[in-house]
Amino acid sequence: MAETSERHCPRCETTRAFVRIARTTMELGTKIKWRCPECGFSVVNIEPDRQSEATA
Ligand SMILES: [Zn+2]
Repeated sequence: MAETSERHCPRCETTRAFVRIARTTMELGTKIKWRCPECGFSVVNIEPDRQSEATA
């Protein structure tokens, strides 16, 4: 699993390779916290549980 993710940083006003600093599994999915290595801006992203997508 990737430890970094390319995201737009509103503080740097450009795309940065955000680093994953926290990961929490919840009922609705996985909560992942990303941090910009340049300015320290952090963002929380919730990824839906992929297992629930398996319908076939
Ligand atoms: Zn930044």
